[in-house]
Amino acid sequence: MSKTKVFMVNTKEIEAGDSLIDRLEHLWGHEEVGLKDWIEKDEIIAIKSHFGSRNQTRHLRPMYIRKIVDLVRKSGGIPWVCEGVGLFWDERNKEATMSNGPGFVYLANQHGFNIGALNAPVIMDDGIVGTEVFRVHNEKGKYIKDVAMAMGLRIADKTLIVSRFKGHDGAGFGGALKQLGIGCVGNEGKGGAHWGGGQNIYVKNAANCTGCGKCIRICPTQALSFDENKKIVHDPDKCIACTMCFAKCHYGIPPQELKEKRIFAVRRQIPSIEQVERMMDNAAGVVKGIKSDGEDRLRYINIAIDITSHCDCMSAGGNLLVPDQGILYSIDPIAIDQACVDLVTKAPGLPESPAETGLDSPHGRIDPVPEAMEPDNLKFGLLSRFVDPDSRQIIAETQLAAAYAQGIGTREYDLIDITPKKKKN
Ligand code: SF4
Ligand code: SF4
Repeated sequence: MSKTKVFMVNTKEIEAGDSLIDRLEHLWGHEEVGLKDWIEKDEIIAIKSHFGSRNQTRHLRPMYIRKIVDLVRKSGGIPWVCEGVGLFWDERNKEATMSNGPGFVYLANQHGFNIGALNAPVIMDDGIVGTEVFRVHNEKGKYIKDVAMAMGLRIADKTLIVSRFKGHDGAGFGGALKQLGIGCVGNEGKGGAHWGGGQNIYVKNAANCTGCGKCIRICPTQALSFDENKKIVHDPDKCIACTMCFAKCHYGIPPQELKEKRIFAVRRQIPSIEQVERMMDNAAGVVKGIKSDGEDRLRYINIAIDITSHCDCMSAGGNLLVPDQGILYSIDPIAIDQACVDLVTKAPGLPESPAETGLDSPHGRIDPVPEAMEPDNLKFGLLSRFVDPDSRQIIAETQLAAAYAQGIGTREYDLIDITPKKKKN
């Protein structure tokens, strides 16, 4: 494959009249980039982003999305800001949660993603509980061949995926590819990537079931029922591994008691490398589902600002790993992520970043990684606390290689910095 162009505006020498928002507008309108002419009159443009988990303080600032909304309108399109329902992580708060549509829209509102601030509707792309999906067959999928992409992205005329580029606790890094492989699939796709699908879910201890029925009511696929003793029964053939039943049933049980009291469980923990490969199976299905016969309906903006080791779905922000890099754009999800990974690798680590201090987490301590503080040394993966320690060095590379194996882009790119030149007096 030939090299793909990745365009960039950087963050250097920012000043009034030449802010990052101005530079984003410059990128949009640049002749060689071709973004402004991509949109045709009255096309519905899905702007797929991430609104940040509860208490996440490094999520994308809404003003970037507002600018993109304005630019979509200026180009003749009709903008729609969207996101998909998340898995059960955020169940500690019942009202502002990623785990269901109303909760996520409410949470988005708290983070400044609402129609008032953005001048565009903010609506889930996969329904109230992440089950509104369009099925795409991906023959090349290593683990997932039946991809459940968010239906909304099928309906939109075009999709612009806007990601905060950062590290990721489970996948090494999160950018365009992870948006495709997790953010753009329904709960079935997310469950398939994280937990290996419904066949891997089981009832570990039916004797603990009190017969309250809460899990049966919330299960989106009617995979749960009672037996004659009013104890819970699980049907793996109907289950999509959304784990909503886990959240409902185990809510409020202290972590130290969970091992003994849990009713639902996962049969086999999916290794990190396999999880990432599953995500890329999904990513390829989503690309196919949106682009149909290769139509030009999908493009990517990575905002490499506030680059943390944590991802947007963590309920925490954290100190920055490296300095801000800029805003990148491409038609190729691999090339844009590869360019961002390379920029971050080249950058020096920031003082008091987790690379310098290490990370304490409920999943164990990660000691400082002083080598990641040096320019030209790997950053991503080394602090990914959900990744098996033996896989941390290779998890970022695995994501890129798995995406490449799926044929959704190229790792070869030309990085073209189009930051406006300063006028000399
Ligand atoms: S499995 Fe849990 S949530 Fe479901 S009925 Fe039994 S106790 Fe209630
Ligand atoms: S059984 Fe649980 S994990 Fe499976 S689909 Fe129902 S709620 Fe989701």
